[in-house]
Amino acid sequence: MTRKEFLKICGILGVGIPFNTSLSSCNDESVDPNTIGKVLIIGAGAGGLSSGHLLQQLGIDFEILEASSTYGGRMKRTLDFADFPIPLGAEWLHIERGIFEEAVNDTNVQVNVATTLYNPAIDTALWDGEQITIAEADFTEDQKFINSTWFDFYEEYIVPSVNDKITYNAIVESIDYTGEQITVNTQTEVYTADKVIFAAPVKMLQNGAITFTPALPADKQKAINEVRIWDGCKAFIEFSEKFYPAIVGFTITPETDGQKLYYDAAYGQNTNQNILGLFAVGTAAQTFNQADEEDRINRMLAELDEVFENQATPHYIKHTFQNWNAEPFINGAYVNDHEDWRKVRTLGASIDNKLFFAGTSYTEGDDWGSVHTAARSAKRAIDELIS
Ligand SMILES: Cc1cc2nc3c(=O)[nH]c(=O)nc-3n(C[C@H](O)[C@H](O)[C@H](O)COP(=O)(O)OP(=O)(O)OC[C@H]3O[C@@H](n4cnc5c(N)ncnc54)[C@H](O)[C@@H]3O)c2cc1C
Repeated sequence: MTRKEFLKICGILGVGIPFNTSLSSCNDESVDPNTIGKVLIIGAGAGGLSSGHLLQQLGIDFEILEASSTYGGRMKRTLDFADFPIPLGAEWLHIERGIFEEAVNDTNVQVNVATTLYNPAIDTALWDGEQITIAEADFTEDQKFINSTWFDFYEEYIVPSVNDKITYNAIVESIDYTGEQITVNTQTEVYTADKVIFAAPVKMLQNGAITFTPALPADKQKAINEVRIWDGCKAFIEFSEKFYPAIVGFTITPETDGQKLYYDAAYGQNTNQNILGLFAVGTAAQTFNQADEEDRINRMLAELDEVFENQATPHYIKHTFQNWNAEPFINGAYVNDHEDWRKVRTLGASIDNKLFFAGTSYTEGDDWGSVHTAARSAKRAIDELIS
C-alpha cells in the first residue's frame, strides 16, 4: 500500500487541492455600501458567518437568518465530555495556519490559536478486517487544535462582528427573486433584501426544504440533484487505558463507501484523559447512525475489541455520539470527496447578481469539505456581490 492510498483510507486530508485566493480585497474602501442595499444571509455556519464578517468590514447592511438556535453549523463543539473542547464536527485544520489571518482579514487583529502538526513518527495502523498492520502516513499539513476547535476560532474572531445581526429559529422556506427586491419567507416572517447570500447546506436544496421562484437555473438544479452527499457521524469514547495508536484507518473503498478511522482525539492536548475519536462518512457512518444508542456503542466496542485484542470493553468509561444526518437543518456530512468538481462549481455560481452562494459546497470546484473552503467561498461571494 502506498502512502497516498493509506491517506485516502484515513481520509483526514479531505480533497486537499490547494488554491490561492486571499481575503484582503474585502477591506476595499472604494465600495459604497449604499449602492449595495440590504443583504440577507441564509445560515450561520462558517460560510454565513464569514460572509457577514466581511460585509460588516465593508459597512454593508446585512442580517443572518439561522434556522437553529445557535451559530456554527457543522463546527459544533462540546465542553461537557472531557477537560478539553471536543469537536463534534470539523476538527482538523487542513491547510496552513495563515488561513486564520486570512479569515479575520484585519491586520490590526492578532490571532492567537494554538495548533500542532502531527509528529512524523506517530504510530499509525491499518485494519483490513482481519489483521492490523503498521502503516505509513504523511501528515505534513493537517493540524490539530490545542485546547480549542474551529468553533472556538469562529466564536472568538468572527462571531463578535456579526452576533447582533443573527436571527435564530428563522427557518427559511422560500426565496422569491422575481422582482428587484428579493422576498425571503420563513415559517413566520417575510423579509426583503436587495441581495441574498445562500449559505445553508446543499442537502436543504436537495430535499426541497427551500424553494425558489423563479426555479433555479436548470444546470444548478441538475447539480443539486446529482451530487452525492455523504452520511456522517463522529463518536468520542473515554477509556481508562490508552491501548490504541494515534490513527487506525479501515480498508474500505473511499469512492463508494466513504471513510472511517479511529484516532487519538487527545493527541497534543494537555490532558490525562484517554479519548478515542471515531470519524465516519459515507456508508461507513450509516451502520452507526441507524443503530440505537446502546447498539451503536456495543458495535464500536465490539469492533475495537476485535482490532485491539479485547482491550476496549474492559477499559470503557463513557462516550458521546454525533449523528450528522439527524441534525434537522444539515441532514448529512458533506458532498463526497470524489464528486465531479464541475458540479461543485455550478453549485457555487451566483444568479442574476441577486443570489450568491457561500459555504463548503459552493466553492469554485477546488475543495468542498472543509471549514477553510467555506471561509474562502464567502470571500468569493462578497467579491461578486460588490463588483
Ligand atoms: C463529521 C464531520 C467532520 C468534519 N471534519 C472536518 C475537519 O476536520 N476539518 C474541516 O475543515 N472541516 C471538516 N468538516 C467539514 C466542515 O464542518 C464543513 O465544511 C463546514 O463547517 C460547513 O460550513 P457551511 O457554512 O458551509 O455549512 P454549515 O456549517 O452546515 O452551516 C449551514 C447553516 O445553515 C443553517 N440552515 C439550514 N437550513 C436553513 C434554513 N432553511 N434557514 C436558515 N438556516 C438554515 C444550518 O442550521 C447551519 O447553521 C467536517 C464535517 C463533518 C460533518
